Amino acid sequence: MRHMAKPGDYDIYCDKILKGKMKVEKIYESDNVLAFYHTNPLFEFHAVIIPKEHIHDMRDLEDKHKELMWEIVKVAQDILETIDVERIGAQFRTGFGKSQSTPHLHFHVIGGKKIRE
Ligand SMILES: [Zn+2]
Repeated sequence: MRHMAKPGDYDIYCDKILKGKMKVEKIYESDNVLAFYHTNPLFEFHAVIIPKEHIHDMRDLEDKHKELMWEIVKVAQDILETIDVERIGAQFRTGFGKSQSTPHLHFHVIGGKKIRE
């Protein structure tokens, strides 16, 4: 199943961040994956992990993405080690449709209280 971006959708990851046109504070980078601190965090702790390959959302993942997804999970594990998860709580999230802010697969690692709407 392919979930194509709608006209007017703006893909900040492919168009800006992965091209180096927008600076982010990187946490991890490999040939396939980039993790960085959210530029406008919604939570006390807020990191984002993306595949460099353009994939619309998790429904478009296939068997060939197994290694990619495992790398993303390992990056999330490492990020979670950097915060006090037991005390502040944390979530690993991805969105779909109206709940997806950017039409490129991404995972939020969020911790602590919500700091803005
Ligand atoms: Zn993209």
